[in-house]
Amino acid sequence: MKPCQHCQAVIDEYILDKQLEPLRGLTVDDFNICADCTTIVSDSCVGCSGAVYVPRGDTATPDYCPACRADHIERTGQDPGWNLDTAST
Ligand SMILES: [Zn+2]
Ligand SMILES: [Zn+2]
Repeated sequence: MKPCQHCQAVIDEYILDKQLEPLRGLTVDDFNICADCTTIVSDSCVGCSGAVYVPRGDTATPDYCPACRADHIERTGQDPGWNLDTAST
């Protein structure tokens, strides 16, 4: 078992996996943080209207879920980050 990146607590994979369920099959292995340090916001992804994952401590709610961010990187070779970039162009 790996400790949480944020608080160093041992990750309870069962609890975190349940919490991550809306995120298209992502697992604790993709995060390395515990359930206490994770917030899931449902229906917030601009790509798929699915749930997004918010690391605790981040003030901004991501626009992309991890799956859509990964999709975007795969298709364009560019990392869009967690949020829609409305500032440029
Ligand atoms: Zn933690
Ligand atoms: Zn998405």
